[in-house]
Amino acid sequence: MKILVVEDEKGLREALIRSLSGEGYLADGASDGEEGYALICSGLYDLVLLDIMLPVYDGLEVLRRIRGQGLQVPVILLTARSSVSDKVGGMDLGADDYLTKPFAMPELLARIRMVARRGAGSGPDPHIKAGDLSLDPQSFTLTGPGGRSVRLGAKEYQLMEYLMRNPKQILSREQITQRVWGYDAEAEYNNVDVYVSFLRKKIKFVQAASKISAVRGVGYELEEAE
Ligand code: CA
Repeated sequence: MKILVVEDEKGLREALIRSLSGEGYLADGASDGEEGYALICSGLYDLVLLDIMLPVYDGLEVLRRIRGQGLQVPVILLTARSSVSDKVGGMDLGADDYLTKPFAMPELLARIRMVARRGAGSGPDPHIKAGDLSLDPQSFTLTGPGGRSVRLGAKEYQLMEYLMRNPKQILSREQITQRVWGYDAEAEYNNVDVYVSFLRKKIKFVQAASKISAVRGVGYELEEAE
């Protein structure tokens, strides 16, 4: 899961990104409302932590704009203000949750899990499924049709999740690099090839018939098989 942290306080933004990365999430930062809005519109994020007091435009304005665009990405508002009117205003604009600063990291992580589960909207089963593969976002475990499973590393998981959420779609190396390694990463395109080869071995290990196909000169797609 990829999270965007829109927070102008550099120390807090960096601490949040570090903590989220430590929990196995991918996280990027934005330091004002304009940058945050542009990044959210890229569609690369699964959840947004959005501070209310921000330069350029504030968090409520960012929220109003993204919901106005029809973007349904889950948003957790962060604010130093604990005023009831902010909270009501934010929820009215389509925030999924609201956290008053200062907050403890375990509290934030619990809220993220809750909002992510709700966002999945597929009932009690949080597993991501595609063809005969099942992926567990809690344990990073990939399971085949016979129940054989294997644990994925953090990057392997992010790549597998991206492929499984977009089956039968060609994902370019560029899209994959941006999604899995982020905008600032020094990742090279052939990282993608290396990680695809790791995943192919693991798909074989769990005895699944679904496979990652290379589309020459473009990228990869997940071919689903039952
Ligand atoms: Ca702020």
